[in-house]
Amino acid sequence: MQLRIPGPTPCPPSSLQAMGQQMMNHRGAEFAEMIRSITERLKLVFQTKGDVFLLTSSGTGGMEAAIVNTLSPGDKVLSVSNGFFSERFADIAIAYGAEVVTLGFEWGRPIDAGKVDRTLRDNPDIKAVLVTHNETSTGMTNDLQAISTTVKSFDKLLLVDAISSLGCIDLPIDDWHCDVVVTGSQKGWMVPPGLAMVSVSEEAWRAHAVAKMPRCYWDFALAKDCLQKGQTPWTPAVSCCYALDKTLDLMLDEGLESIFTRHSRVGRLTREGVKSSGLSLFSDENYASDTVTAVNVPDKVNASKLIRLLQDEYDVVIAGGQERLSGRILRIGHLGSVSEDDMRSVLEAISKALPRVR
Ligand SMILES: *Cc1c(COP(=O)(O)O)cnc(C)c1O
Repeated sequence: MQLRIPGPTPCPPSSLQAMGQQMMNHRGAEFAEMIRSITERLKLVFQTKGDVFLLTSSGTGGMEAAIVNTLSPGDKVLSVSNGFFSERFADIAIAYGAEVVTLGFEWGRPIDAGKVDRTLRDNPDIKAVLVTHNETSTGMTNDLQAISTTVKSFDKLLLVDAISSLGCIDLPIDDWHCDVVVTGSQKGWMVPPGLAMVSVSEEAWRAHAVAKMPRCYWDFALAKDCLQKGQTPWTPAVSCCYALDKTLDLMLDEGLESIFTRHSRVGRLTREGVKSSGLSLFSDENYASDTVTAVNVPDKVNASKLIRLLQDEYDVVIAGGQERLSGRILRIGHLGSVSEDDMRSVLEAISKALPRVR
């Protein structure tokens, strides 16, 4: 089967086998050794010397943690938004009482850093900026480096949803001055759903010291204290930790540069294949994501029929569009454990199935 949705992604055998191991004492020495080793290796992939924590939740829990650990109710926050997941980030901030200013761009169109600059100039009381690195809903990678340069020229906090890019697409967290960056185990990490991973900068810690949003489960200070003892504040998803312990080895053996170039090759192959089967890309191709490709559904094609046919007769699982893009696009995930051959067989299946649903 080709499971090619943008998460959960296929888990390699060593990841799945690790999940089947017996439980261990999460307050014992063995676990302490494992979490310390996982954290050290995560820092290499995150390209940070700052703190990195494992949270037991899906990615969204990590987004919530980014908000509640750095902000207070009433804080003005800029949401730079061009897709479904950037709206989710803003919704979480609103739920906790932040005053969210939205700088919206059309879905599938790039973020204009010049407009971010103007908005920050016009709103000097903005405290933090929320941005999605890789918009999984539209198949776009935003120019985080340009956005960060602007945000940091105003000395604002930068909170980043990199759930579907970290570990696949280059994101040097320290070099780009990202304060909190969030990812999730079921995306590029080749681990089942269950862990969010977050990095926390010095500046984020300074914000944490004065942040008044209610927090308990997500409190980074508890996570830091516990990690010093080789623990997590609450019972962690132990089985996911076993799997991550294995996949981090796979990732570091392959090497970050090789991982990034593999994703870029696979991304390009997917886009070229889509276009040569007569389909068109949804998003601005200059910002095309190397982890997920969004494809316009042609007229007279029923997207859900096509998705069902691919699954039933070709053993290929892809995703549809979310919210306003439901029925309008197909989303093909190519992150984590993925090769060019995998994508060739997915593309072949799509070109065979397409005429059958017209
Ligand atoms: C998958 C994803 C999320 C949501 O993560 P969950 O693990 O489903 O909570 C958020 N943002 C982006 C960009 C994603 O790709």
